Amino acid sequence: MSMTRKFLRPPGAISEEEFLRKCIKCGKCVEACEKYGSGCLELLSIFKGLRYWRTPTFNPFKAPCEILGKCSVRQYCIEACPTGALVKRHSYKLGKVIWNPNKCIKVRGGECLVCIEVCPMNAIRFANKVLQVRDSICRGCGKCVHACPGRALTLIPC
Ligand code: SF4
Ligand code: SF4
Ligand code: SF4
Repeated sequence: MSMTRKFLRPPGAISEEEFLRKCIKCGKCVEACEKYGSGCLELLSIFKGLRYWRTPTFNPFKAPCEILGKCSVRQYCIEACPTGALVKRHSYKLGKVIWNPNKCIKVRGGECLVCIEVCPMNAIRFANKVLQVRDSICRGCGKCVHACPGRALTLIPC
């Protein structure tokens, strides 16, 4: 059985087990993302465990990934990776969106739905006080997570 991901990874990350074998923790993907992308990547701290230390993670609270925007043609993080830990694919899925109704401003009677406005895939619906993210359409770009003023959305590895 393949190892489950504990952390969100940059676009094109190979299976977690292989990724941990191939990633040399050089930080080149993070540098490329800062220079040409959105700056959504960072290196994990030593507090996440020695095995994961300095491996790259996608942090949608820092910035959303531009995989559906300016990085849709060229993925600078993948191009910068010298080892094949990140590989080009036809399409990318960075994570699965989880919704917390207790934090959702709309559910609490406020005027919101920013998540629906920012989603480039039109993957979010709100009906009967329930937010639905269509997982088959969502690419896990994190735009909704980043934009949510209530911090009601998070991304988990998938
Ligand atoms: S696709 Fe672009 S924005 Fe997304 S992680 Fe790579 S360089 Fe950063
Ligand atoms: S560029 Fe590749 S090898 Fe270097 S830290 Fe990023 S994923 Fe790992
Ligand atoms: S639901 Fe969120 S993470 Fe998924 S594609 Fe839309 S904005 Fe991106």
